[in-house]
Amino acid sequence: MRFSVVPLAIVAAGLAAAPLANGFAPTGGAAVSTGTFTASHGARRQQLLFAAGDDISTEASTEVDDFALDALKVAGAVNDLADQTIVVKYGGNAMTSDDLASKFCEDVAALQKLGVRVVVVHGGGPQIKSMLEKVGVESRFEGGMRVSSTEVVEVAEMVLCGSVNKKIASGICSAGGIAIGMSGRDANILQCTKMVDKSGYDLGYVGEVKDVNVEVLEDLLDMGIVPVISPIGTGIGDEKDIAYNCNADVAAGRIAGEMRAARVIFLTDIAGVLDKKMELLKELNIQDVKDLIDDETITDGMIPKVTYATDAVQLGVGAAFITDGRVPHALLREVLAGGGDSMGTGEGGTIVTN
Ligand code: ADP
Ligand code: MG
Repeated sequence: MRFSVVPLAIVAAGLAAAPLANGFAPTGGAAVSTGTFTASHGARRQQLLFAAGDDISTEASTEVDDFALDALKVAGAVNDLADQTIVVKYGGNAMTSDDLASKFCEDVAALQKLGVRVVVVHGGGPQIKSMLEKVGVESRFEGGMRVSSTEVVEVAEMVLCGSVNKKIASGICSAGGIAIGMSGRDANILQCTKMVDKSGYDLGYVGEVKDVNVEVLEDLLDMGIVPVISPIGTGIGDEKDIAYNCNADVAAGRIAGEMRAARVIFLTDIAGVLDKKMELLKELNIQDVKDLIDDETITDGMIPKVTYATDAVQLGVGAAFITDGRVPHALLREVLAGGGDSMGTGEGGTIVTN
């Protein structure tokens, strides 16, 4: 059920002007004599004000205003995003710290309760690395992609679709949400071909996401479920039994694009996209992204993020955010703290638009 911020603002304005039903004026206003209101009520009010401290009228009214402003911002953002889809790439520090992880799960559950349709796509680089070391399988990165032999994909699938995916889905459920964890191979959610690297490296079984089973994701969202997707995809046609290891940024960007989501948010382990002086670039368009990759300002794991952020906005996603996942409740802040029609909180991170 959507509601408009306008009536809420009118209600708020009305409350500020009118005396409360018990005869007391709102804090900071003059006591007004209406109906059964008598001089003794006025004296009682003075007593209460005195008991609470001389400064109550100014301090309390400031607090109320701050609260109301925040509430109005949240109402505006919810009004803008209710019934809309946001896709969140969950990775980096937000995933490896237990405290940040539980706050992330709380944020997803809260957004779900507010009527926002949330799809989570997760990474798991550190967890895959540690398991590869345990089982003695070597791997390396090229252009931000993990070169994936059959053994690497096997370990990545085991880790991502097994422990990592289940932990996130159950964390969201523990926080009061309803989530179901799935592999990108389930119901052909992520349909892939082999990714071809521009520099000519053979990346092995790294998947380029060609198609997404949007219907199954929409059906789950219609049922009030948050789909939590691990980025292992399935081959197409003769290759349908092949598992492809997808970079989670690729999977999130493609899912957002194919779903024509309102937003895609990439939570990462850095403030956003930084320039050569290590200063945050708050806003980038598609040409900026190309230039920054060409002059090697953007390298490694930031390449798939910005590439698939632009891919998503070109497909019609409203905006893509590269957001600092080290900040507690980064997701909730990015989605709600900027108010209606907002392009982020403006507090940090990079927004990529057309
Ligand atoms: P994630 O888990 O978020 O996918 P990655 O390590 O894959 O993390 O990608 C984020 C990393 O990209 C940063 O920690 C940083 O080392 C690297 N990076 C490369 N170029 C840039 C840039 N211009 N701005 C910010 N980070 C960059
Ligand atoms: Mg990465």
